[in-house]
Amino acid sequence: MRFFIGMLAHETNTFSSIPTDRRQFETYGLRYGGELLEAYRDTGTCLGGMIAAAGTHDIALAPSLAATASPAGRVTKEFYAEARDRLLADLRTAGPLDGVLLDLHGAMVVEGLDDGEGDLLAAVRAAVGARPVAVTLDFHANVTTAMVEAATLLHGYKTYPHVDMDVRGREATERLRDVVAGRLRPTVAFRQPPLLPPIAGQLTARGPMRRLYDLADAMERRAGVISISIFAGFPLADIRDAGLSIYVATDGDQALADTLADELAETAWTHRHEFLHSAVPVAAAVARALAARERPVILADIADNTGGGAAGDTTEILRELLRAGATETTVACIWDPEAAAACVAAGVGATVTLPVGGKINPAHGEPLSLTGRVRTVSDGRFVYKGPMLRGLAGMLGPTAVLEVGGVKIVLITHRRQTIDPEMMRFVAIEPERERVVVVKSSIHYRAAFEPLAREIIEVDAPGLSSSNLTRFAFANVRRPIFPLDEL
Ligand SMILES: [Zn+2]
Repeated sequence: MRFFIGMLAHETNTFSSIPTDRRQFETYGLRYGGELLEAYRDTGTCLGGMIAAAGTHDIALAPSLAATASPAGRVTKEFYAEARDRLLADLRTAGPLDGVLLDLHGAMVVEGLDDGEGDLLAAVRAAVGARPVAVTLDFHANVTTAMVEAATLLHGYKTYPHVDMDVRGREATERLRDVVAGRLRPTVAFRQPPLLPPIAGQLTARGPMRRLYDLADAMERRAGVISISIFAGFPLADIRDAGLSIYVATDGDQALADTLADELAETAWTHRHEFLHSAVPVAAAVARALAARERPVILADIADNTGGGAAGDTTEILRELLRAGATETTVACIWDPEAAAACVAAGVGATVTLPVGGKINPAHGEPLSLTGRVRTVSDGRFVYKGPMLRGLAGMLGPTAVLEVGGVKIVLITHRRQTIDPEMMRFVAIEPERERVVVVKSSIHYRAAFEPLAREIIEVDAPGLSSSNLTRFAFANVRRPIFPLDEL
């Protein structure tokens, strides 16, 4: 068998003022053809799982484009058109194909086009006719009817933190192989209950998503069920189809798919209040962390998560740590290319005075004027070693650690979520030895930091990934929807 393979992934926060243009994709490395296989083989990613499964089953791969960027504002129409045209051109010239494997996100919003993946999949379907198309989607996909209709099978991640990406990539490949061989004839049920769960309430270790996936796992063991995906959705894309959705694929049994999908939708709705989340105000969170006996305490800056489209440069927690005289403390990572460049230029050991952070959304806190010593500089290259993205090369761009009093601030050039202790170790900071570590992340940090943390405090600081949805002016999501409306 021979499958086409490609990736175009973006999670778009439509409230962000940072456009997602070609440069944002370039900082991850745009991969073409064989480069895709080289970059993603043996990594904890969907492409890694697809490549591994193809190897196991002797499936030839026709690699096209792999493109991803940090969550931010709408993808520019120029880059989307370029990527879409490239994928479609490669499809046309790939030679004989039995099926198509795509690694998409599912919450990509393009300038002038709310349903990016729906548009892309419709074009792919038109190009390949009746040949099967299998797609992996992020747990945060805002799935639409257009996506469901164009794809043969969708496979959503079942974990948040996303530690099963390679497993889903393998699964998508193996089910596609079954479809090609005539062993499976998928029929699908899709449901969109009126639910817009906030990010911080979506973790799968406990709470309503655990309840839903426990139920789905039991359903998946029933005869005739191919796979079930429960997408928590990405609430900060203000489009009609944002929010939770349920996708059940069975082998030719539409009635069974409908029954299971209805039961899952009903369960999600019944437990909707369990998705609501509250965090600790900044001053109280910092005071509690500094009073703790054991180390390290993790302060999770859940509202300034670049992985949810926030800038990653807010300074309210840092401001309070400095005011309170914190010591043996690290703040990671603040996205500030200018400050990082100034520190790198000054060199290790230099004393610098400069504005840090607060440059994108002044309403979320002004820049801090800081004087400190440059402790470390780096080109920003490291390798992810935690449960997420294991083995993948990380690129933070020019990076510096600025030490102000007892606080070490990791300043980075490329916007990345703090999900792996390696993002501190590579600049000679050992998070276990710190009293307090601030991570800019909503949930993903838990995969690698929970095992080493003595305590985790989720902080209610300002930012574009806040789980307090009343802070956002929604105009396009379908209404009524919980929790924006009382139903
Ligand atoms: Zn996600």
